Amino acid sequence: MNEILRKIPSVDEILKSSSVQALIREHSRQLVVAELQSCLAEIRRQAATGSEPESSLDDSLARLPELLRDRIAARTAPSLKKVINATGVILHTNVGRAPLPAAMIDAIRETATSYSNLEYDTATASRGHRDAHLEKRLGSLLGCEAATVVNNNAAALFLILKALASGKKVLVSRGELVEIGGSFRIPEILESSGAILREVGTTNKTRLADYRNAIDSQVGLILRVHPSNYRMIGFTERPELAELVSLSRESAIPLVKDAGSGYLFRSELPCLASEPVVSDALRAGVDLVCFSGDKLLGGPQAGLIVGRQPLVERVRRDPLMRICRVDKITYAALDWVLVQYAKGRHLESLPVYRSLAASTEELRSRGEILAGRLSGSGFTCEQKDGVSVVGGGAAPGETIPTPLLHVRSERFSANTIEAHLRLFEPPIVTRIDDDSLVVDLRTVMPEDDGVLADAFSSLASR
Ligand SMILES: *Cc1c(COP(=O)(O)O)cnc(C)c1O
Repeated sequence: MNEILRKIPSVDEILKSSSVQALIREHSRQLVVAELQSCLAEIRRQAATGSEPESSLDDSLARLPELLRDRIAARTAPSLKKVINATGVILHTNVGRAPLPAAMIDAIRETATSYSNLEYDTATASRGHRDAHLEKRLGSLLGCEAATVVNNNAAALFLILKALASGKKVLVSRGELVEIGGSFRIPEILESSGAILREVGTTNKTRLADYRNAIDSQVGLILRVHPSNYRMIGFTERPELAELVSLSRESAIPLVKDAGSGYLFRSELPCLASEPVVSDALRAGVDLVCFSGDKLLGGPQAGLIVGRQPLVERVRRDPLMRICRVDKITYAALDWVLVQYAKGRHLESLPVYRSLAASTEELRSRGEILAGRLSGSGFTCEQKDGVSVVGGGAAPGETIPTPLLHVRSERFSANTIEAHLRLFEPPIVTRIDDDSLVVDLRTVMPEDDGVLADAFSSLASR
């Protein structure tokens, strides 16, 4: 064994070789030396166990530059990477919710790579406010007096509660005390903001009178929450938004709506027919509306707060605002998205809406082309009528009819195919139904169809 260990050249010797010198020029001496040392340590460990034949160690030594290159590539690869979503869940928090269009990235490149007027008013050479960039845009789109942006909608709601209702009671229907994605629970957010939860009504029925009867001098806010990930059916009731607006006006208690998904304007899409619309809530007279940037708005992660100027101002002045504020890239990205709405181009230019609106004919013909390629690789494909879902806290219970590609193989189980696709570069996320692998092309960008075909054929040629 010592014989073998003696064959292992010294670090200094290896560093002199031209292929390793090239790696040093490309990366850094420090990184190459660190990876080389751990590479050699592994070879020594192998040798020490005596389980490997000498020839395999010789082989490892011969392939050292190659092993080293692979290790460095793995060490320096980005951790966050593209995943192809073939699940049919359009807004999927685990895979990053709304994908952003390439045109947006091009448009914000200049702002991101240079200094900007983020908080600088070039007309007066004085300090400006970063919200100015979105406030005008949202004002002209939605007719709101003021707007501010924070890191996400959870932060938006928390800040609203803290700034407007700390130490005061907040009226919430028992049917709206929702949990969204594990760590976001309305009662807990409310409590940690310093507000006091005053539940009204029952789980299934809450009437206007329940709100009215709960009003006393301690009440600071009425909160309406969109139960965005479940639906109540049967013997249920809650007041119309307009009724809550009247009560709020009468009692001079602000009404806030957590609208969740950020569906700005009503569209023709049937799956969104019962989704609350931000512009409707503002028009109805709600004082503040908050919503996410990366759900149906179709933009980057953010929480938007829109509504009356004095209330937005109080939220903005809260000391915790500084903790939740967003970066110039988020402002630039949101502005780009809002411009799409202003131009009436959002249905075509935002990937979320392209997925939502893709027709069954279009999906079926893409499915046929893909099935053709998969059959060529020995897979059996069948398109069956199925459904996609909006997901991500929007349109609960609603489904979108979609032709689904069911794939089977004589050689590989559905589990084997699923794992192969998931471990492919880029990873492809699918699901299994009734022993078939199911591909939903609604959430796959059309330009990625070929990648799917390649992934299947790489399994077939194994
Ligand atoms: C999604 C959602 C939230 C949380 O929004 P994030 O942007 O994920 O923080 C809060 N309220 C409702 C009603 C939601 O649907």
